[in-house]
Amino acid sequence: MSAKQPLQVTAIPAFADNYLWLIHDDQHAAVVDPGDAAPVEAALASLNLTLDAILLTHHHADHAGGVSALLTHRKIPVFGPARERIAGVSVSLSEGQEVALPSLGLRLSVLDVPGHTAGHIAYVAPDQHWLFCGDTLFAGGCGRLFEGTPEQMTASLQKFAALPDDTAVYCAHEYTASNLRFALAAEPGNARLAERFDHVQQCRARGEATVPSTIGIEKLTNPFLRYREPAVIATLRAAGRLDGDNPVAAFAALREWKNSFR
Ligand SMILES: [Zn+2]
Repeated sequence: MSAKQPLQVTAIPAFADNYLWLIHDDQHAAVVDPGDAAPVEAALASLNLTLDAILLTHHHADHAGGVSALLTHRKIPVFGPARERIAGVSVSLSEGQEVALPSLGLRLSVLDVPGHTAGHIAYVAPDQHWLFCGDTLFAGGCGRLFEGTPEQMTASLQKFAALPDDTAVYCAHEYTASNLRFALAAEPGNARLAERFDHVQQCRARGEATVPSTIGIEKLTNPFLRYREPAVIATLRAAGRLDGDNPVAAFAALREWKNSFR
């Protein structure tokens, strides 16, 4: 018997800028947010893997659109948020529950992270220090508030900020460069941020992915985790976007600004 290959996470690019995440060893796999089935099938075939589970973070089509096609020839569990209705979901999850994937020897804990959508959940692998956060946290940014409030989103992001700094952040889009351009406008004096922006631009010029990030990097450079920082508050006030220094109001002002930032 050969030694079991350690678990790894492979990015499957899809659509214009999505990443579908494949968690696998040398035989078995689970996929997070398969918005499209075709690139997942291609990855499974080329790596010679059996798909054993599907994990969904929220209901948007670019995250869940591939589920029915993936189920055509398979009978596998589909995990998804209890507070959203998504076709194909067989196990509904909310915070405090755990997912066990025995074929991968993987366990994941579930966080409720409303804001981008009303029932959005995230998956944390506590042994591996991995976070699958869907469209809640991005490298250098955060998801738009389509269904939730700034209060909900700040509470959701604080749950991520409480994870260990070395937690890998597997977010679902390649938005990092434009996010960091905005971050620099929000916090121009942040040297770590300027450094990160340079690095990310070099990666993109070489056609490389800029994710996963880590919680530690995000805490140092992401304005949507830094809305309490005096420098960020000062920028917002100087731009006439904030009165006072209420943290949730500062977060809401940042999100509002980002929505129209070019
Ligand atoms: Zn979404």
